[in-house]
Amino acid sequence: MSEDGGKATSLTQIPSVERLMSSAPFEPLIAEYGRSQTLTTVRRILDEHREAVREAAHGPAPTSTDIETFATRTSTLLAAAARPRLRTVFNLTGTVLHTNLGRALLPDSAVQAVVDALTRPANLEFDLETGTRGDRDDLIAPLLRGLTGAEAATVVNNNAAAVLLMLAALAPGKEVVVSRGELVEIGGAFRIPDIMSRAGAKLREVGTTNRTHVHDYANAIGPRTALLMKVHASNYSIEGFTHEVALPTLAALGREHGVPVAVDLGSGSLVDLSSYGLPKEATVRETLEAGADLVAFSGDKLLGGPQAGLLVGRKDLIAKIKKHPLKRALRVGKLTLAALEPVLQLYRAPEFLRERLTTLRLLTRPASEMQATAERMLPAFAQALSATYTVQIEAMLSQIGSGALPIDLLPSVGLVARRADGKAGGRVLLRLEQALRELPRPVIGRIADHALRLDLRCLEPGDEAAFVAQLSLLRL
Ligand SMILES: *Cc1c(COP(=O)(O)O)cnc(C)c1O
Repeated sequence: MSEDGGKATSLTQIPSVERLMSSAPFEPLIAEYGRSQTLTTVRRILDEHREAVREAAHGPAPTSTDIETFATRTSTLLAAAARPRLRTVFNLTGTVLHTNLGRALLPDSAVQAVVDALTRPANLEFDLETGTRGDRDDLIAPLLRGLTGAEAATVVNNNAAAVLLMLAALAPGKEVVVSRGELVEIGGAFRIPDIMSRAGAKLREVGTTNRTHVHDYANAIGPRTALLMKVHASNYSIEGFTHEVALPTLAALGREHGVPVAVDLGSGSLVDLSSYGLPKEATVRETLEAGADLVAFSGDKLLGGPQAGLLVGRKDLIAKIKKHPLKRALRVGKLTLAALEPVLQLYRAPEFLRERLTTLRLLTRPASEMQATAERMLPAFAQALSATYTVQIEAMLSQIGSGALPIDLLPSVGLVARRADGKAGGRVLLRLEQALRELPRPVIGRIADHALRLDLRCLEPGDEAAFVAQLSLLRL
């Protein structure tokens, strides 16, 4: 019985819910988080505590039952629950359009437009000229037409949705001819064959992985053919003994048979990137001029805007797409449209684009800027690391990312940490990688060749102080 008696005594020492909730240390918690949330947390802590007391009956004395201790624990749990799960990070991976880190960063004009759209009513589907119901696509269609030369345009949630919708609307129960060299999988379960079947279209593969000829397409065309489709090999390249059918040739074949030609351009640039010193990519306008009847592309890859899927091309085809019931399910919200419009506007003044479009600014930053950043960051970073590590400035290569121009790399500079004892990285490097990730604003780098690499391309001057300020919190 003495054992039970001991337990009872310990359990009775635990303060009641009411006592805690009405005590002074809990006042600020209730004021900040509200009564019900605090109460739920207190109950949970008391339950845990009782459990601990019961389990400790045979072992060491139970933990403190001091009210202050309960308040501290409650505060910790409440703060943890209130902390946003979507957090700002430092992208020092060297991949500018990093899909897992949110891809394109928006320019200030787009951010302001989003704030306005969030906090005030807007003419999302209201025609201000006639005072009648409008079409949300009309907010950006004229801009897209002007920038690409297309007859018509529409916008959906992302490029995957654009491709799905296009196939569902134009090829239900019919065949879509695609080269075997273009049956791509983009990260995150977007595979052309799967999208095709989900859209209710039949994939008609032609050619081989490395070589497809125009007669392969021609032989596949029949009464059930709804579309000829080309897909941008976004994240891989086929080299060596290869052949693909150029778009003008395919477009001529399509016209001859009265079959539309669609292109999933993936990234889809609106300007000639080679004029900014970046690798050449066919623009959306060039793709249309080469004979595509429809082009689908992303809003948040090279375009530098919000997540969106843009479809431009022939008026009759766009009209058909817009009438499909899936359009309603895949449509964009006002935040997307608010952000997209100012980004598209920037393209009307290409001479300022490099300066004003964040994505282009990051992609074209000269290595000398990153070198200067590295020199400013090095002392603080070296000091924050223990003697286990050595740090130095090194040249490295950044990637555009998001499947845009996968094999092209941009000269950059970064901070590189290695083990001071010269041994391979292993757990010691993983510990540093984790410690950086656990900072208040997580720093995401990358481990390669037995070194932790922090590519400074995406650390802009305005963020340098924030980067340095939190280094004192690094726990290795
Ligand atoms: C990125 C990409 C997609 C998917 O675009 P999201 O905007 O990410 O949905 C589809 N096709 C190609 C060729 C791509 O590169």
